[in-house]
Amino acid sequence: MSEEKSAGKALEEKLLTQKKNGLLKTDAAETERADAFCEGYMKFLDDAKTEREAVTASVALAEANGFTPYEFGKVYRAGEKVYLNVRGKSLILAVIGKNSLENGVRLLAAHIDSPRLDLKQHPLYETSEFALLKTHYYGGVRKYQWVTIPLALHGVIYKADGSGVTVNIGEDDSDPVFTITDLLPHLAQEQSKRTLADGIKGEELNVLIGSRPFRDDDVSEKIKLNVMKILNEKYGITEDDFVSAELEIVPAFKAKNVGLDCGLIGAYGQDDRVCAYPALEAILDCDNPEYTAVAVLTDKEEIGSVGPTGLNSDYLRHFLESLADMQDVPAYTVIRNSKCLSADVTAAFDPTFTDVHDPKNASYCNYGLAMCKFTGSRGKSGCNDASAEFVSQVRRVFDENGVIWQTTELGRVDLGGGGTVAAYIGNMDIEVVDVGVPVLCMHSPFEVTSKLDVYMAYKGFSAFIK
Ligand code: MN
Ligand code: MN
Repeated sequence: MSEEKSAGKALEEKLLTQKKNGLLKTDAAETERADAFCEGYMKFLDDAKTEREAVTASVALAEANGFTPYEFGKVYRAGEKVYLNVRGKSLILAVIGKNSLENGVRLLAAHIDSPRLDLKQHPLYETSEFALLKTHYYGGVRKYQWVTIPLALHGVIYKADGSGVTVNIGEDDSDPVFTITDLLPHLAQEQSKRTLADGIKGEELNVLIGSRPFRDDDVSEKIKLNVMKILNEKYGITEDDFVSAELEIVPAFKAKNVGLDCGLIGAYGQDDRVCAYPALEAILDCDNPEYTAVAVLTDKEEIGSVGPTGLNSDYLRHFLESLADMQDVPAYTVIRNSKCLSADVTAAFDPTFTDVHDPKNASYCNYGLAMCKFTGSRGKSGCNDASAEFVSQVRRVFDENGVIWQTTELGRVDLGGGGTVAAYIGNMDIEVVDVGVPVLCMHSPFEVTSKLDVYMAYKGFSAFIK
């Protein structure tokens, strides 16, 4: 016995947008696939907390999947898989397509740098019987979130003789960790009167790195010397070598399931590894695509895509030009016929701070991959505003491939805003739209995402480049 829908109900379903939790639109098997996919993602989060580590981890996965280092000037045939390591901090991966490059490439662009605390060039000092490290924060951090948590030290140091060492302290269970002190509430009456933005100031983000003196009364800074002695024994460095180092302070904890139902992931650096990893997996799984598929995992998004490893430089253009040369096609033809998903996170609707969102246009955890037609601030300023034509193409790709997706806007009008690499890719004359995973607590030491949304990013990116 079937129940007839009322005319109004049928019309409502036909004409009005039907929003629904993605987990109620899928079966248990799809949820299991999402959970399985996220096991690999959580391992990637633990292995790759910095842009350099993300490149290293991604290259290892790429080589295991048949990708070889790209050689400028070499001719590659359809189906061949290559990667270009851009100065150890950005990475381009490509699978040559069956179609001529005249038809452009299908591009995925995500970033692998995350907000953190960088060490200054003269970081190490001793005061009040402690050794500490001065930092200068990188990207948009809420400074009060970075005190009284376990911190790790990652990065590279290049010595006077030009040789380099890789640093990673605080991730192994046997490693020590570091931390930034904050006041006890008993003595915080004056500090508590500061605004939240000033609760902890930039010059107060000093990392505790040692407390035991070197035993010699002739030495003036015994604790600092003892720390430097330990670093010298471990890495062969002197204090001068901090000048040519890139050392990053990041949270020391690992990715965890969040919630009794384990539906969410909590971890540092999900902006934007939560898009970079699905983009990486999508291109690793991409065999014999119609169009040449390209994934770029870029550095420096969080500080404006600057420098030769940021997408406001020409490194991606040079790679596309090289592909064009290979098939004797004008580079401008390849570039202007290319299409891109700018894969970056968006603000998930926060259940406690609801009034920063327009609930009709916000994205929600578990509602799937989120498409953001425009970002920017104060009237879309500084953003890429994707064309209706291209948004229509992308929504069709998602709908035809079982991708659960939603739209998003980065908060209420005039409350703030932000940008992504989409603006720079658009400037190259490439059609581009922002698509990414909603994140709670974005830019905090412990960002939260939904496993279903992470998996839908993989499905969406795969469908776009296949
Ligand atoms: Mn981002
Ligand atoms: Mn960000």
